[in-house]
Amino acid sequence: MASEAAVKRSLQSIGNMFSKGSWWVKDSLKMWTIQLQDIPDEALFKGVKACLRKAKKCPTVANLRSIIEADPSNQVGEPVLYKGCQACSNTGSREMARWYTEKGRQKVFFGLAACDCLKGRRLAVGAYEHWQDVVRMWEDSGSDEIFYTTHDHPVLTTEQRVTPEELQARKERAKAAEFKVTGAWRHAVQK
Ligand SMILES: [Zn+2]
Repeated sequence: MASEAAVKRSLQSIGNMFSKGSWWVKDSLKMWTIQLQDIPDEALFKGVKACLRKAKKCPTVANLRSIIEADPSNQVGEPVLYKGCQACSNTGSREMARWYTEKGRQKVFFGLAACDCLKGRRLAVGAYEHWQDVVRMWEDSGSDEIFYTTHDHPVLTTEQRVTPEELQARKERAKAAEFKVTGAWRHAVQK
C-alpha cells in the first residue's frame, strides 16, 4: 500500500519536473495519499516514471492512477473515496479571489473553481474550471494577488475577498441601516 513517504517522494519528483513549489507537495500530499492508498509503493514509483515520460503538463492524481491501472503487472485495489476534503470544505469547489488593478483602482474578483478531490473532479466535468488552471490563467493575465482555499486554510478571510474600499462602504451602509432602524423605533415610541 502506498505509504505517505512514497507519495511525498512521487509528488516531489513530479513537482520538480513541472516547477511546482513545496506548497504544492504539501497541499496535495494528504489527498494523494488517500487516493493512492490501494497502490503498492513499487507500482506507484513505476507509474510516476511512466507518467513523467509521457506527461506534457502536470498530472493529476487521476491521471497517475489511470497510468498505474493500465499496467497489467500492477496489483491495484479499489480506489478510496475522498470523504473529508478540507480545501473545499467538501463542496467540491475552492474559493478563489483575484486582486487586480483596473484604471488605477484596486479590484477583486471572487469566484469558485473545481477542487482536485473526487467531488471536485465531478464538477470539473461540467462548467467548473480546475482551480490550478484558474491560478495559471490569472497569473498569465496579470494579477496583483491571488488567494484560494487550501487544506491548511479552507476559508478565505473577508480581507482576502473584499477591498478595503468596499469594506468601508459596507460598514457605512450597515451604519445607515442601523440609524434608520433606531429612528423608526423612536418614532414608534413617541406615538
Ligand atoms: Zn476538495
